Amino acid sequence: MAPAAWHPTLQRQLQRVGLDLAALAQAPGTAGLPALLERVSRAYTDAEQDRYLLERSQEVASREMGELHAQLAASQARLASLLSLSSDWVWEQDAALRFNYVSAHTTDVGDDLAALLSGKHALLDLEVQGEGGPAAFAALVAARSAFRNIVCGVREPGHARYYVRISGEPVFVDGEFRGYRGVGSDVTQVTLAEQRVQQLARYDVLTGVANRSMFVQQLEHALERARRAGASLSVFFIDLDRFKAVNDTLGHDAGDELLKTVAKRLTGLLRGADIVGRLGGDEFVVLLDGNPDVTTLTKIAGRALTELAEPLHLAGRPIQVSASVGISRFPDDAIDAATLLKCADTAMYLAKARGKNNFQFFTPQLADRAAAQLSLEGELRQAIQNHELRLHYQPKFDVCSGALLGMEALVRWQHPRRGLLAPGEFIALAEESGLIVPMGRWVLEAACRQMQEWQQAAMAPPRCSVNVSARQFSHPTLVDEVSHALKAAGLPASLLEIEVTESVLMADAERAQQSLKRLHALGVQIAIDDFGTGYSSLAYLKRFPAQTLKIDRSFVDGLPMDRDDAAITRAVISLAHSLDMRVVAEGVETESQLRFLAEAGCDEAQGFLLGRPLLPERMAELMTERMAGGAASRPAGPGPSMAASTAPSRNSP
Ligand code: C2E
Ligand code: MG
Ligand code: MG
Repeated sequence: MAPAAWHPTLQRQLQRVGLDLAALAQAPGTAGLPALLERVSRAYTDAEQDRYLLERSQEVASREMGELHAQLAASQARLASLLSLSSDWVWEQDAALRFNYVSAHTTDVGDDLAALLSGKHALLDLEVQGEGGPAAFAALVAARSAFRNIVCGVREPGHARYYVRISGEPVFVDGEFRGYRGVGSDVTQVTLAEQRVQQLARYDVLTGVANRSMFVQQLEHALERARRAGASLSVFFIDLDRFKAVNDTLGHDAGDELLKTVAKRLTGLLRGADIVGRLGGDEFVVLLDGNPDVTTLTKIAGRALTELAEPLHLAGRPIQVSASVGISRFPDDAIDAATLLKCADTAMYLAKARGKNNFQFFTPQLADRAAAQLSLEGELRQAIQNHELRLHYQPKFDVCSGALLGMEALVRWQHPRRGLLAPGEFIALAEESGLIVPMGRWVLEAACRQMQEWQQAAMAPPRCSVNVSARQFSHPTLVDEVSHALKAAGLPASLLEIEVTESVLMADAERAQQSLKRLHALGVQIAIDDFGTGYSSLAYLKRFPAQTLKIDRSFVDGLPMDRDDAAITRAVISLAHSLDMRVVAEGVETESQLRFLAEAGCDEAQGFLLGRPLLPERMAELMTERMAGGAASRPAGPGPSMAASTAPSRNSP
């Protein structure tokens, strides 16, 4: 190789040290030098090559690193943007299951929630909802298993309540558990909506206590537990007395308020395991769990009655309500939920029948009675079509002259097997079942027809009164029915009187006043029946267009000896007269009663002493006798002719 071909670095080095290679090559004894230099030059070249290769590979490597960096940054940015777009976030926990990282996010709720979680909460502090609940979740975590879509509540004083849905996987480093890592999302709105739906499906919207289906379900669970434990339990069936009157007089808002109060009072009375439910209307039920004995049940029922009778204010008015309570027991009375409820219901009806504001235990005899009632109801339905109803007529006399002034139509049921039934045996049932409406229509029509027949037979019948019961009175078609019955029979309205009891009128005095006005406008007379047994508002009494007050038999009974009865009778007579009303005393059975009434100024008397309810034929006889001059005036007490014509032995019951 010629020196000119040597590696330039070698040439530069040789020049720097001042070696002239050409001259050196001619110098003696240097024969090996060129070969040496040539090797050095080649070494330079080789080293150069290596460095070049190294630099190349470094360059390539750093370019690749840059690309990787850029990719990582891009993917991080993508993740961040996805996280911010979705409501989901990422979380991590340490080995003690404490949140040590919750990704930031954009919504306010999210930040609040993140703060909440990363602040204090440990995984197992969350209130796990749904299937399995906290126990199943804790087991998963204890086994260091992954979990998916667990919904849990996060609650912290001063913060709104949140619900989150989280999924997580355990993190292991070198086989050692380091905590969980996962994603989560805020499901507060959805969960609250779900809870609301659940609430609506299971709880009574108005009062917040269990609804029927929820109560029955809980009762079934409790029965199952009691069966296994060999324990007893009890159901109370509670019905408010006179709820309808509150609703009608004070309005539905007041009625709602009352129901809420009742629910609250009942709930307040119970222990944790017991459940209150509302079946609808004013019917409440209570489940008493935990082996209650009869003494305990009696105590609780008594407390419930006292609690419920506490006065309250509704629509600005002080109100007092009471309730009737029926009690049934598992396993004595029934072993399934439906029958248990029915037994309690039956017992509740007994409580109502026993004057309300009391409680009754179910007994098997009650079941028999309820069954008998049921079959009676079925038969009563047929009674009208089968022409089994009859009217008897009880005369009313002038207390002083003994003149026949009127009569009262009283219904009887000629039962195919049980004989002649008095109203006491079926009127309440007819009221309850609604049969009173068609039955009352029949009574009105039959009475008007009978009166018309008597008129046509020239018997000049005095005015006839017809009883109208609560349900019938509040029925919207009553006035039309009265008017129709009069027209159909061609009877003057003045010959008909409607008797409505004081308590029916006062239950909804405002509406009663309207109905009475319409009846009065037809030209019929109005009598207030059983006066003195209810609580009359004198203000209303004055506004009712009624012409007659009937003093209830219970006061006449005690005359003349009972001083209270005597005072009340006198007071009612003077009250009626001051309101320009006539007074009829009911249930006059003795001469001394009649004498007292005459002295007290009572106008008319009705009772067994003067005449029992009569078959129409007997009534016709009585009228004929009277017309023939039998109505001899008599200062007090029945004259002989009257006694003969109405002797009990000749009369129907
Ligand atoms: P009320 O309207 O007060 O009728 C008077 C009741 O007293 C009748 O009983 C009558 O027989 C009875 N009575 C009359 N005088 C005496 C007496 O001196 N001593 C005794 N102990 N009782 C006497 P009844 O016929 O059993 O009727 C009972 C109730 O049934 C009636 O009481 C009335 O509220 C109702 N009622 C009767 N008929 C009808 C009807 O057609 N429709 C409706 N809605 N209710 C009726
Ligand atoms: Mg009556
Ligand atoms: Mg009466």
